[in-house]
Amino acid sequence: MLTIGTHMSIAGGIAQTAENVVKMEANTMQIFSRNPRGSGYRVYGEEEIENFQQIRRENKFGPLLAHAPYTLNLASGTEKTYEFACMVIREDIMRMDQLGIENLVFHPGSHTGIGKEAGIQNIVKGLNMALTGQENITVLLETMSGKGTEIGDRFEELRAIRDGVNYPERIGICLDTCHVFAAGYDIINDLDGVLEEFDRILGLPLLRAIHLNDSMMPYNSHKDRHAAIGEGQIGMEALLRVMEHPLLSDIPFYLETPLDDRGHKEEISKIKEMLKQRREEKA
Ligand SMILES: [Zn+2]
Repeated sequence: MLTIGTHMSIAGGIAQTAENVVKMEANTMQIFSRNPRGSGYRVYGEEEIENFQQIRRENKFGPLLAHAPYTLNLASGTEKTYEFACMVIREDIMRMDQLGIENLVFHPGSHTGIGKEAGIQNIVKGLNMALTGQENITVLLETMSGKGTEIGDRFEELRAIRDGVNYPERIGICLDTCHVFAAGYDIINDLDGVLEEFDRILGLPLLRAIHLNDSMMPYNSHKDRHAAIGEGQIGMEALLRVMEHPLLSDIPFYLETPLDDRGHKEEISKIKEMLKQRREEKA
């Protein structure tokens, strides 16, 4: 069964957000693990958490995804930035695990001049301070576009991070269609080849989530600008083929397209309708 949802605001609380997912006719969601631009987070009361758990159970939600703040930079060579990132990732792994969220994704970070190898070492060290081996949550490294000094635009770099940590079984991958396309993985003309490469370097079982986005920027541009599905350089046809790929049928899809809740509802319904039509045509 298709698991699809969007990035949701949790401004109204976590139970309300789960209600909104149901209204949207989605069956999963991505939320920020805390205020994406600051450091604050809300502490939910027991009753709200119980409501949230009930809504996701009753509506058979697929795996939920929390996204760490964009400002978090675990690769940083600047002491203050790095220490802050270490604290946030440690707290958010614990907080999201306690909420029963299945996956927490974060951008590996930018090395800002210290070099990729040193950046990767910092990420590994930060994750080793955060993970205790007792968690149920999986921490997902996101595939990046490679803008600036970003780490994670090559599958090999994500592999190096996973290889370095003490609990590699707690590390998975979130593939962002916009980012990999901008990073130079040709998911339009050679989706099979990209998945083969992913499997060879990382292993497909590590793929736990797909950020389904179109890209405003061209192939191999190393620029990161999301577009609504079908309105960017990847296009509807290629994105539908990602969703239909037999190797990806069990992976949850999360839209991060620049639309509001209403636009996302329409986007999900349009995608489902098109997938259905294509299935019928093939039958
Ligand atoms: Zn992201």
